[in-house]
Amino acid sequence: MIRTLEEAARDAATCTRCRLSAGRTQVVFGVGNPHADLMFIGEGPGYHEDKQGEPFVGAAGQLLNRMLAEIGIERSDVYINNVVSCRPPGNRDPLPDEIEACRTWLMERVLLIDPRIIVTLGNFATRTILDRPVSISRVRGERFTWEGRTVIPTFHPAAILRGGGDASSQMAALRQDFRTIRQALDEAPERVEEQLGLF
Ligand code: URA
Repeated sequence: MIRTLEEAARDAATCTRCRLSAGRTQVVFGVGNPHADLMFIGEGPGYHEDKQGEPFVGAAGQLLNRMLAEIGIERSDVYINNVVSCRPPGNRDPLPDEIEACRTWLMERVLLIDPRIIVTLGNFATRTILDRPVSISRVRGERFTWEGRTVIPTFHPAAILRGGGDASSQMAALRQDFRTIRQALDEAPERVEEQLGLF
């Protein structure tokens, strides 16, 4: 039976499917518009996300907010979540079995929110969604079709912050990819619900 996003979040809050549950302050499920056309998928919660229970609230989140503002989109219009919903200790990379354990939660959110466009931030999200060992620097900015949706991979904002900031070529690429996201959104047909004014 299909359940609501709130029901899924309540259930996820007590998840112990992998070892990350032992070290978390709380499950960081996802945030934003439950009917969003645009979904962002990051890697996993960091220190601030674990404390506040919301994805992308630290420095990487500030950059994500800035990129959204540059293309005229409010954070509250999109849905933001991660490949794993619990903070890996010391911000290490999520391990394959942790990603696998969290995959059904992520896929359920995709089905419930039903976004037309999914932006995967960095290698982990891109590989999880496309289900192949691609490299983000090779596929960023491309449009893929997955399960009837458009997937646009781009660099993880944290990688930009680590790798040179505003003046870097990666930042220029991120900006370009956000313009691609805006274009894809403008081109995507309206959902029937929106045409009928239900959302
Ligand atoms: N990095 C991520 O991948 N996700 C967050 O929520 C925050 C930082």
